[in-house]
Amino acid sequence: MSGKPTNVTAQLLELHLIESQIRGLTHRLDDAERTLKAQSKLLSDLDAQAAALRTQARQLEATAANDEGEVQRIDERINKLRDQMNAAKTNKEYTTFQTEISVLKADRGRSEEKALASMGKLDAIRKSLAEVEAAHADRKTFVDAATKERNQRRDEIKDRLDELKGQRKAAAADIPDRAMDKFNERVALGDEDIMAPLEEHDRRNREYNCGSCRVVVPMEKLNGLMGRGELTTCSNCGVILYIEAATRDAVITGKK
Ligand SMILES: [Zn+2]
Repeated sequence: MSGKPTNVTAQLLELHLIESQIRGLTHRLDDAERTLKAQSKLLSDLDAQAAALRTQARQLEATAANDEGEVQRIDERINKLRDQMNAAKTNKEYTTFQTEISVLKADRGRSEEKALASMGKLDAIRKSLAEVEAAHADRKTFVDAATKERNQRRDEIKDRLDELKGQRKAAAADIPDRAMDKFNERVALGDEDIMAPLEEHDRRNREYNCGSCRVVVPMEKLNGLMGRGELTTCSNCGVILYIEAATRDAVITGKK
């Protein structure tokens, strides 16, 4: 490792290189995290489906039990009336019991139909529940595998990552706030380049362009970067510019 960077651009570049290493290192872990999250979401969807089906099944079981209970109560009532009918003293009495029994028989038919309908629905719900439970068991094996993969990735990079995080902290410590803010602003953009080197555009005319968007960097910016390593951003794309040793030499040689 070289010594401490001597200007703000060099400080930022050091930080940038450490962060690039961290990103490279955590890339596979991030993939594994995303896979695990997606699989876990599918599993919890199945949990929710199963819970809803279990609630429906419980309600239908209660309804079916009620209807069956009603059929039994009617049967008991009918048996009682039959006894009374058989013991009837008059024709009128007999007919009254007979009428009551036929009314109850109609009620019984309706309750029995309701109970059968509830049982039919219950069977369908139980079948769906069994399917969801089987899908849940399958999905669980995916989640377990994804968890194992994530943990493995995390463990294998842990030491190196801790080391790099320590370096990042040390590298960031001496960077002035304004430069740090600019750097973080670029990082927050996500997909955009954070820093880019100057590239030779036309050596004879001492023209250099932004290594990210290729737009020519004005002479005063080039001078600021060459001289004191000032915080320099591309006016076109906003990337933080730095100068590589070979480019620096070429600029100096070209100046002669
Ligand atoms: Zn640019």
